[in-house]
Formats: sequence, structure tokens, C-alpha cells
Amino acid sequence: MKYELKNGWSTDIDKDLVFKFSEGYKDFLTKCKTERESVQEAIRFAEDCGFKPLDSFETLKEGDKIYAVNKLRSVILAVIGSEDITSGVNIVGAHIDAPRLDLKPNPLYEDGEMAYFKTHYYGGIKKYQWGTIPLALHGVVIKKDGEAVNVRIGDENDDVTFVITDLLPHLAQEQMKKTPYTVIEGEQLNLLIGSIPMKDEEKDGVKANVLALLNEKYGICEEDFLSAELQIVPAANAKDVGFDRSLIGSYGHDDRVCAYPSLMAILTTEACDKTAVCILTDKEEVGSMGNTGAKSDFMKLVLLEMLDKKGEGATELNLLRTLDKSFCLSADVNAAFDPNFPAPYEKRNSARINYGIAISKYTGARGKSGSSDASAELMSKVRTLFNNNDILWHVAELGKVDAGGGGTIAQYVANLGVETVDCGVPVLSMHAPFEVVAKLDVYMAYKAFHVFYNEV
Ligand code: MN
Ligand code: MN
Repeated sequence: MKYELKNGWSTDIDKDLVFKFSEGYKDFLTKCKTERESVQEAIRFAEDCGFKPLDSFETLKEGDKIYAVNKLRSVILAVIGSEDITSGVNIVGAHIDAPRLDLKPNPLYEDGEMAYFKTHYYGGIKKYQWGTIPLALHGVVIKKDGEAVNVRIGDENDDVTFVITDLLPHLAQEQMKKTPYTVIEGEQLNLLIGSIPMKDEEKDGVKANVLALLNEKYGICEEDFLSAELQIVPAANAKDVGFDRSLIGSYGHDDRVCAYPSLMAILTTEACDKTAVCILTDKEEVGSMGNTGAKSDFMKLVLLEMLDKKGEGATELNLLRTLDKSFCLSADVNAAFDPNFPAPYEKRNSARINYGIAISKYTGARGKSGSSDASAELMSKVRTLFNNNDILWHVAELGKVDAGGGGTIAQYVANLGVETVDCGVPVLSMHAPFEVVAKLDVYMAYKAFHVFYNEV
């Protein structure tokens, strides 16, 4: 089969299969709005499919299915192949964190006889998009005695919701002269959480009442916010978009729209030649830093454990050999061409809705700066693989030269010696509270990752 740029709905693609796959994905989106929730769901799926914790294996052999959790916020799954691990592994890496608002360590205050949470945004957002939409609170609080309290408020229909207010147009003459960057400023991203004062409380009665309610429901006190990870995410759940139901609107497509297909691809991989590895990583939206991001040594640790348990020798030489012979699809979203905002796109090299998975030879900005540029040889390999297996794909750059740019985990994986190329699902309104993808492209990402694990 040869490469042809075409809309997937002009082919004989099975619409029922495409739509059925997207139901599972929508369910995942609704359940998993944070990296912790995504890890929990991935473990649940993995165990249902016969995967076991890497720690529980004394030795590893062909066909074994393992998973390893990194501090509750990232996870690696693998299916051991028939070939030695040192002959290289096939990696699909996606991230499960998404732009959001984090609560500040001292979040709770009262002003104007209303109670608020102060936030610090996480990742690249247009701050004005987060005003006047229903918001939910997700996360974990570790109490003084060490007990972890999981919090999830605002997603169910009868749940309460929270909101960041905005000025009425009638009084916004000065505000509307500001740039979009400052129309709602970082220190105005304050979440409205209550308005009834506690009786007989002279000062900050509303705050006191909120604290009493939190204590009643969760057993937490104000100091417990100091040891918490609480995240404000959109309350709206994933929904079909369009009369034809061809699109999915949701918070957090970036990058669960690659994480879910890569997870499904490894869960449906039974036997493979090369060991298949799925990495669901954290902190991509803030530079892949820290011990749960792609820059951490966690993947190296898991590979060394696998080399050791498979009896191949957990030496640094074997690890470097493994990485040097490995391949990685860095699975992350791309900016779909938006006819409503055509200016920053270069039409001949843009990702497109319904055109399948988008491959990016490089990312970066200002002259490919900060990019891992995939080699011609690697592009050839991926091109042949996808063409031979009926994968609908196209190439894409993120916008015009010097229009902006972005990065993925590709560079950090490539730095280890792994042959790495970016590919993923095109997204409209990326990083907005409600992003849009095409069902056909989500399904095609699954097919592409499955082929990569099973045919390379
Ligand atoms: Mn991303
Ligand atoms: Mn992103």
C-alpha cells in the first residue's frame, strides 16, 4: 500500500469499530482527570488483562506481562518478547498529566463574605478560558496521621461544583482593553467555594464554615492542605460533538488521547518478538521534570530490573545496548488545522482532523530548538510499517515556522540513545478546558501503536 493523504471517511474504514473504541475512551476520560486517577485505571485494566507487578516476578520469560508504578503518578507496562531485551525494545510513551489549576499550599481564605481557594496554574493555559465554567476538585490529602484521603467532588450530576467568577460586560470597559494574557490574571484564578458564615463566628465565618464542612466530610483540618495535591479540573465530562457524533469534546485529550490507545495496544499484545513497553508519564506539561517525569531514571530502573530477572545481566553496558537498539513512538497530540484560525498554520504541513495519526519528524521552536529530529532512516521505517498495515497517517509540524512551537517527551527518550519519533492524534483547541478530537484518529492511533508492538 502506498501513502496517500486522504480523509479517513473516504476509505472503507469500519465506522462501528471506530465508534465502539471511542466509547471506551470517553469512559476513561471521565474517570481519569488527573495523573493519579489515570495510573489507578491503567492498573485496573492491566490486572484484568493478566499483567502483574514487576516486583512479584522472581524471573521473567517470553510472554510475561508486567507493570511497575512510579510513586502513584506514572506507570510502565511491558510484554516480554521472544527476543532478548538487549536486542532492543519497542516503546510507546505518552503523558497522563494535563493543564489545570493546582491549589496553593495555603489555599483557603475569605473575602467579601465569600470563601475561596487560591490556585497556581499548571502547564500552558489561556487563563481567561477558566472563568465562568463549572469546575471540579480532584486529588489527595495526606492527614497528620499519614492517612490518605482521596477527594473527587464536582463530576456527578448531584455533586456541587465550583467556579471562577468574571466581571459583567456592563462594568468591563477597562478589563476589555487588557490583553487576553491579563484579562483574568494568575492571582484572580480564585475558586468560589462558599458563602454561608458560621453562626457566632466574628471573623471569617464563611471560611470557618467551609472548614467545618470539610472536617465533617473528609476529617481534614486547615493544616492538612500543606500536605495535599488538589487539582481544579473542568467538571464537564466527555461528550460526542457534532450531529454526526464524529468528534469527542473533553478536558484532557492532551495527552490521554495517546495514553489510552497506547494502553489498549499493549493490553491486546499477546506475543511479540521485541519486548513491548508502554510508558504513561507525568509532568510533561511542565517540562518532564522531577522523579515522575520522563527525565527521571524510572524507565532505566525498570529496564535494569527486567534485564536482571530475565537473566540477561543488569549491567550498565547491557542497559545502554538495550536503549541504543530500541525504538520509541513518542505519542503526543498535535495541533489540528483550524479553519476558524488559519493564520498560524502552514497548510501543507499541518495535522488534520480525520486524516489519521500525525507524525512529526521534529518539534521545537525558533529553528527546531529543543527538538529531537528523527532521522530519515527512522521515518522510512515508520512509513513502511504504517503503509504495509493500512494505518492512515500524515506528517505534521506544529504551525508555521516561528509562529510558536512546543515540545514532547521525545527529546528525553532520544537522549538515551533510543530511535524516537513523535506521532499522535490531532487536537482542536489544545490545552483548553474542552478540547476536540476525531474518533477516527483516536482509533487509528490504537491501530498504529498495536502494529508497532506486534509487527516490528
Ligand atoms: Mn502533550
Ligand atoms: Mn500539552
